[in-house]
Amino acid sequence: MQSVSLATISLVPFLSPKMTTYPARPQDRNAWILARRGQKNRLAPSLPYASLWEEEIGEGGDSVSTATLFLTNRECPYRCLMCDLWQNTLDETVPLGAIPAQIRDALSTLAPARQIKLYNAGSFFDPKAIPPDDYPAIAHEIAGFERVIVECHPAFLGKRTLTFQQMLKGPLEVAMGLETAHPQVLEMLNKRITLDSFRKAAATLAKNSIALRVFILLRPPFLSEEEGLFWAKRSLDFAFECGASVCCVIPVRGGNGAMEQLSAEGVYSPPRIASLEEAVLYGLSLGQGRVFADLWDIERFAETPEDHATLSRLDHLNRTQRIPNT
Ligand code: SF4
Repeated sequence: MQSVSLATISLVPFLSPKMTTYPARPQDRNAWILARRGQKNRLAPSLPYASLWEEEIGEGGDSVSTATLFLTNRECPYRCLMCDLWQNTLDETVPLGAIPAQIRDALSTLAPARQIKLYNAGSFFDPKAIPPDDYPAIAHEIAGFERVIVECHPAFLGKRTLTFQQMLKGPLEVAMGLETAHPQVLEMLNKRITLDSFRKAAATLAKNSIALRVFILLRPPFLSEEEGLFWAKRSLDFAFECGASVCCVIPVRGGNGAMEQLSAEGVYSPPRIASLEEAVLYGLSLGQGRVFADLWDIERFAETPEDHATLSRLDHLNRTQRIPNT
């Protein structure tokens, strides 16, 4: 394993302001990001904006049927540079009862599953997104699942997390976006977390027997292809050091307006599919947990026959979690 101490990385600004119009001052970034947004999709508060049934390798190595729900709710209060999830959110908090109704609606259309992912384009424990008074009804709707997975920004973890956990029959898993272990790029992503705050949030989960899933970006803005791959690997190291049982590597996509601007300025390019495969193989080689490639809409990255062959191998890696013999 390539060893780099995160503490030794220079914190001297590495991008000249001349390279990008993206503000150097954190307080100017929200406005810059918001100014480049397009329209949101029109959504009904009574319906999830998507749902799907999939199989995922579980902790024990068996294939676990999974219902993944994309809940419609109020937009996340953060303004991350690379985020496009706001496109499927509302401006207002949903009425009480709407989230349990969305869950009922989605589950009535999906095949039975053992575990459920409740993804909400934000933080499950943001009280303006998912009303805490709905937790008992939500727990009731999902009582038949062996495992519950939600997503959350580290800042929203706390008492509400433990309250919800106690209502569940099975284990709770929380997915948190580390995004990148590159300290400067993490700061520039406007997520308002640091490696230290992420580590502390992970420790809180571990202390309360809540499993950790970590989202990692492959090639965020401001990094070359080589740097992007290097930092995806360091991010996998960091996530597993924090106790992650599973990591998901996500190729950074355009589509939110801000990324298009950064692309035009030459400080963002989509990653290569070959880098995604290398990152996943590296993560699996650590032997510390499951590593998945996020293959949603991945065809947009595939340009050559070799890319399509790599996608096929990535799909196999996702389904087996086994590095093939070379
Ligand atoms: S915390 Fe998550 S949902 Fe919120 S803006 Fe950032 S990436 Fe998007």
